[in-house]
Parts: sequence; C-alpha cells; structure tokens
Amino acid sequence: MRTIGIIGCGAMGAGIAQVVATAGHTVRLLDQHASALEKAVSGIQNSLRKLADKGRLTSEVAEAAGSRLHATADMQDFADCELVIEAIVEDLGVKQQLFRKLESVVSADCVLASNTSSLSLTSIAAACERPERFVGIHFFNPAPIMQLVEVIPALQTRAGLAEEMKALVASWNKLPVLTQDTPGFIVNRVARPFYGEAIRIMEEGIADIATIDWAMTELGGFRMGPFALMDFIGHDVNYRVTESVFAAFFYDPRFKPSFSQKRLFEAGYYGRKSGRGFYSYA
Ligand code: NAD
Repeated sequence: MRTIGIIGCGAMGAGIAQVVATAGHTVRLLDQHASALEKAVSGIQNSLRKLADKGRLTSEVAEAAGSRLHATADMQDFADCELVIEAIVEDLGVKQQLFRKLESVVSADCVLASNTSSLSLTSIAAACERPERFVGIHFFNPAPIMQLVEVIPALQTRAGLAEEMKALVASWNKLPVLTQDTPGFIVNRVARPFYGEAIRIMEEGIADIATIDWAMTELGGFRMGPFALMDFIGHDVNYRVTESVFAAFFYDPRFKPSFSQKRLFEAGYYGRKSGRGFYSYA
C-alpha cells in the first residue's frame, strides 16, 4: 500500500497521519476546517523535528516523513488512496454520510477504515455500497506513542481483510490485536468500570480523587489514576464514549454514566485541554 488518506485531522487523525507518514506512506489529509488541517500538519512537522532532535528518528527519516504529508480541501484528491482511515466526530450519521461520499471518489478496492471508539462498525458499514471493504482500525491517544491498535472486522467485512490490516499495522511498529465488533471493543470496555467505580467511590465519600489516583498508581501499578486519566483524555470524549457504550449494551447498569462527569461535560470542564476537570490546571 503506497497512499493512505486520513479524514478528520484532530487529536487522533494527526497522530495517525504521523505514524503512517513515518512508516513510508504518502499521506493525504482532509478536514472540514482549514484551520484544523493547518494545525495538524504544523503539529506533525514539529513533532517529527522534536523526535529528530532527541535522536529518536534520524533527521533524514523525519524530513522524508514530513514531505509525504499532503493536505487538501478536495476529497477528489483521495482518488489514488488504497486505504482511507476516518477520524472525524463520533457520530454515526455523520460517519455514514462521509463514507458514502468517499465511495464515489475512491477505487472499488480501496479499503475504508474507521477509528471509532464506541460505534458499531457493522452499522457504519451498512451505509456503504461495498461494506465488505470496511474495517475498524482503532488507535489510542497519542497515536505515535501508544503501541496498541485494535483491528475490528464488521459483520460484512470480507474474510481475510482484518488479518491483512493487522499485518499492515504491525509493519508500522504497532501491536495490533484482532477483536470483535462489540461496544467499546476490548480496551474501552474494560476501562468503563475502571472510571465508573472510581467515580462511585468518590461520590460515596469513601475516598477523594487524589487518594483514589494515588492508590491506583502507587499500589495498583497503573501509570495514571482514573481521574487523572479522564482529565487527560477529556470529558467531552470520555463521557460520550461512556454514554455510547451504556446505550449499546441496552442500558446495562454496569456501564451507567455518572452525574459527576456529566456535569463536568455540560460545563465544558473537559480536563487538561480546558484547564479544569476533576483537577484544576490553572
Ligand atoms: P477531534 O475533535 O480532536 O478531531 C476531529 C476532527 O474531525 C476535527 O478536526 C473536525 O474538524 C473533523 N471533522 C468532523 N467532522 C468532519 C467531517 N464530516 N468531515 C471532515 N472532517 C470532520 O476528535 P478525536 O479525539 O481526534 O476523535 C476522532 C475519532 O477518533 C472519534 O471517532 C473518536 O471516538 C476516535 N478516538 C478518539 C480517541 C481519543 O482519545 N481522543 C481515541 C481513539 C479513538
């Protein structure tokens, strides 16, 4: 595969673009906002430069990766892509509409992938004319650093495609794992009770957030405690995933969202990115 398209160039799309450009692919990038596209390209160039300065990439590799990035506002420029990875807003209708439009541009055998955290791949694929070439490729934030990538076939995905994508992802120096199309896949499902029980312990007055985070890092061996981690991910993203997984499991109380997090979300107190979440970053 030579040319890979990335649609949606926010936190995830930019990170994924950096990974695939560093791995040697020509990358086409598109976002609905010109400012997001500019920010993504300059952010990737900066990040590549820093990696070269730290000696983690040679300056030749960093420069070559930077030169493989091609931002565009016109989806027609994706006509030569052999794989397109979508990382736009977590909204089923918007994603379905995007893939329908994309199919009128790309070739019949171009692989289409979504980076969705919590939506059903099968339901996104159902909107496609050729759902057999559709698959989930789920990176973690920040994509250039996090090793794990979940590869998820939809019910309609042709036999063998998920394995091919797993091999491709492995060639990018990642650790891919095949999983099934169930809400939250592996990691986001296991993580729901991690966050949910931590919030319940805090709400019940058993321990405060700093104590829970301390216990989970110092005693539990986790790299980040649940509250620090939710603030890092952002409550806009984390709360929406919790709501989506709860609904997708037919409102199983095990996955019930909390009012404490819902209020942070409603107030725009998203965590690190907004300066306030469970902790204050002012
Ligand atoms: P983000 O808000 O940082 O970026 C989304 C980008 O998509 C924005 O730049 C926006 O302008 C663009 N966009 C939205 N609708 C578009 C459209 N119709 N056409 C073109 N561009 C459009 O979001 P993110 O955190 O990068 O998440 C993107 C996707 O990745 C979501 O599906 C999310 O669930 C998933 N994801 C997020 C994380 C995370 O930790 N943030 C981790 C794994 C997966």
